[in-house]
Amino acid sequence: MKEGIHPQYFDAKVTCVCGNTMIIGSTKKELRVEVCSKCHPFYTGSQRMVETGGRADKFRKKYGLKQG
Ligand SMILES: [Zn+2]
Repeated sequence: MKEGIHPQYFDAKVTCVCGNTMIIGSTKKELRVEVCSKCHPFYTGSQRMVETGGRADKFRKKYGLKQG
C-alpha cells in the first residue's frame, strides 16, 4: 500500500536553454527547461525595464531625440 506514495527523489540537475543550471529535487536525474528563474520574463522583467530605461535615456541623448 505504501509503495508509490513516496517516489525516489534525486538531486536533479536542471539545465536551462539560457545556460543557467540549478539543482532541484526531482524524480528525474536530469531536466531541461526553456525558462528558469533567471531568464523568465516574470522574474527579469522589472530589472530589464530599469536597464532599458537607462539605455533609452542615453539613446535619446545620443541622437537628440526629445521625450514624448
Ligand atoms: Zn533560463
